[in-house]
Amino acid sequence: MILLDHVTKLYPSDPRPALDEVSLHIEPGEFAFMVGKSGAGKSTVIKMITKEENPTSGNITVGGIDLKYVKKRYIPHYRRRLGVVFQDFKLLPGRTVFENVAFALEIAGFSSKEIKNTVPKVLEIVELQDKAKKFPSALSGGEIQRVAIARAVARQPKILIADEPTANLDVLTKSEIINLLQRINDSGTTVLVTTHDENVVNNLRKRVITIKDGRIVADQKDGGVYRLDRASAEAAARAEVAARVAARLRQAENKNLFASEKPEPVKHIRTVKTEKRPISETPLYSIRKPVKAPVAMRRATPKKPAPVPVMTSRDPFAAPVVSKKAPKASSSPATKSVKAIKPNRSVI
Ligand code: ADP
Repeated sequence: MILLDHVTKLYPSDPRPALDEVSLHIEPGEFAFMVGKSGAGKSTVIKMITKEENPTSGNITVGGIDLKYVKKRYIPHYRRRLGVVFQDFKLLPGRTVFENVAFALEIAGFSSKEIKNTVPKVLEIVELQDKAKKFPSALSGGEIQRVAIARAVARQPKILIADEPTANLDVLTKSEIINLLQRINDSGTTVLVTTHDENVVNNLRKRVITIKDGRIVADQKDGGVYRLDRASAEAAARAEVAARVAARLRQAENKNLFASEKPEPVKHIRTVKTEKRPISETPLYSIRKPVKAPVAMRRATPKKPAPVPVMTSRDPFAAPVVSKKAPKASSSPATKSVKAIKPNRSVI
């Protein structure tokens, strides 16, 4: 049983009450949706029930316990009576599905024998028995959410609270998750689900508590429906798309993270050949090294320089006469031009 009696919550930084005289009674074994726009006060109700926050005024009783009397050091003990599924999953990325569920039992003081017996049963409830050895990065969004639910129900709590459990999921997966919550409720667990998803609520026709600006504005006991106004429906759709993209990125990041833990052995380095760079890219210091011609080229070089044609006639169209005498190296025009561009040492 969950009972909120005239609960008001004022956050220090906000002059408007997040909850304004909220009174609510959820019977043992009930299934209830709490709906409302973003900022309506849904998460604050959950924080009141989990004792993450205390009310400014009013009383809260959960499972027969008056939360006013739960001292700070006993809060973890109190929370172990509740199963809570958070919107952002909060799974341990370095642990397998089995270990994630086992961890919830470990911190609750279960013996290793009890853990070994309980975890497979819980994984069977959420239909993930064949994924026990997988890491969260290898699971789909719906499977991750099922692990989160498995973890929340592993201790068989009397009350299960799910904060936007279908956010970021596709339509088919949403209905799988809701069916699972329904099955958990059928086994006698009280279930409170917050959502702003019209379809999820309207397909189930359960109790629907509508919250607006920190006040309960409607409470439909059975066959409840939820209708968002058009602007809110559009804003909710946009927020859902953005959240889904963020979730995909998060999952991709996780995969990269795990991939970088085991780097591939670098085998290809030895086979990489150094590319010959064109002379313009060669560093300056290597230009000074004298370059020896390859053997084949050296053999092809004639021992005597080739005879140079000499102009003997004034007629520019007359054929040149080949002189038998080899020209002196110093008198060749090519050598002269090299001399002309030879840098002046004193300038350098
Ligand atoms: P919902 O879950 O429906 O989106 P919340 O319960 O988160 O709504 O918020 C209800 C109101 O309380 C909002 O106006 C929000 O800005 C305010 N609020 C929530 N948490 C805090 C906080 N820690 N500090 C100040 N204001 C807060």
